[in-house]
Amino acid sequence: MKIMKVYADNAATTKMSKAAVDAMLPYLYELYGNPSSLYSLGQKSAEALQGARERIAVNLNCLPSEIYFTSGGSEADNQAVRSAALAGEKKGKNHIISTAFEHHAVLHTLKKLEEEGFEITLLDVHENGIITSEQVKSAIRPETCLVTVMYANNEIGTIQPIAEIGEVCREQKVTFHTDAVQAAGHIGVDVKRDNVDMLSMSAHKFHGPKGVGVLYVRKGVALSNLIEGGAQERGKRGGTENVAGIVAASVAFDESCKNIEQNTARILKMRERLIDGLLSVSHSILNGDRTSRLPGNVNICFEGIEGESLLLLLDAKGISGSSGSACTSGSLDPSHVLLAIGRPHEIAHGSLRLTLSEYNTDEEVDYIIKEVPKVVEYLRSMSPIWSDLQEGKKSYVIQ
Ligand SMILES: *Cc1c(COP(=O)(O)O)cnc(C)c1O
Repeated sequence: MKIMKVYADNAATTKMSKAAVDAMLPYLYELYGNPSSLYSLGQKSAEALQGARERIAVNLNCLPSEIYFTSGGSEADNQAVRSAALAGEKKGKNHIISTAFEHHAVLHTLKKLEEEGFEITLLDVHENGIITSEQVKSAIRPETCLVTVMYANNEIGTIQPIAEIGEVCREQKVTFHTDAVQAAGHIGVDVKRDNVDMLSMSAHKFHGPKGVGVLYVRKGVALSNLIEGGAQERGKRGGTENVAGIVAASVAFDESCKNIEQNTARILKMRERLIDGLLSVSHSILNGDRTSRLPGNVNICFEGIEGESLLLLLDAKGISGSSGSACTSGSLDPSHVLLAIGRPHEIAHGSLRLTLSEYNTDEEVDYIIKEVPKVVEYLRSMSPIWSDLQEGKKSYVIQ
């Protein structure tokens, strides 16, 4: 059997683009000055940082002074949520609204804040993986200081009505943050159109380097520090800047934004074919809305199997995918996202997430469509649960 190498875990991380790597190298070799230094070598780094800030701002439709660089999406989420909580506390407001299927960078920060005395409302997610602005509206109270809703979900790829939710928050004068780590560079994001006050993104999710995050904070919205130190990032994030990484992040973002239409058209075709191909397996179901969905996201539950075993066998066939999120794999708990959309435990364990990028090919999709059903069939042939289902001792959850 010919083994093909297929990377289909682009929601976990992406390969860097050549343009991003090329943009990074001079700042690792020759132009290594500290941007805070006054001599010209340092000033070249400072200029590069400013250029990167402008490149990102143009693509988000904001001011360069509204961009803060962080060590990644997680830090950006932590800083945004904590800042809004602190600003709320100062005004005697201690209620925060979010959703049950956020990334752990948001959920675990909220958990900490709850222990510190904040009241947290996690909105239920509809079975299609989408929450509505009406849900947000009816959860807002006079003491609400923050609404944080992710732009697109990292496991099931569903896209939320961010502009509408933002409008509700604006009307009610509540700060609105969105974790746009999965959306930025993949679907058009515009902070003005989307009515957001704070937005997080992460370079390694759009072919930039790991360890570079961006936090957009609208002018006039309070931002406090997570990391104390020097005057970098206008005093809001101490520490010598990751110049090479930041330059590469800005180039990768610019490249992704410029190519969104062209990439989306190709990736969507591959995704649709992949979904149809995998749903031809009996007792399988797509997780998350099929239309309001990131172009590259496929997430399917197969009844009667374990996602972890499926991944290992697929790896042996050269296919890299995921089950649940990268952060939770290793634990035996089913994905909190699949539970949030109402999938019962027994089928939430049997999920497979495949996420495509513009670097994937039609041949790779063909290969996945050929190999996954074989592996599922093999696992079912060894599964006691599957034989119970087949013999009618248990009933199928997925018809
Ligand atoms: C990957 C991811 C993060 C974390 O970003 P890092 O840069 O890896 O810290 C946060 N939120 C979402 C939705 C993500 O997909």
